[in-house]
Amino acid sequence: MVRDLPAALGAGIYNVYTGVQSDDPAGAALPTAAQLGLEPPRFCAACGRRMMVQVRPDGWWAKCSRHGLVDSTDLDTRR
Ligand SMILES: [Zn+2]
Repeated sequence: MVRDLPAALGAGIYNVYTGVQSDDPAGAALPTAAQLGLEPPRFCAACGRRMMVQVRPDGWWAKCSRHGLVDSTDLDTRR
């Protein structure tokens, strides 16, 4: 269980990979750190907006215009 995720990842309202609302059967729970280490999120978990995503050799960042930027290096997903 990842603690203290930023709202854009941890709000749990929208699936960060599909943008589907989590009360929909196709929706899912919070992403795990391992998941986030392998695959950057695409949608904001708080508002469902498509985020700007930039993948780097050492990680990624994703930005929601409303909820701000999340950087994978802040999440402790690797090592
Ligand atoms: Zn958002």
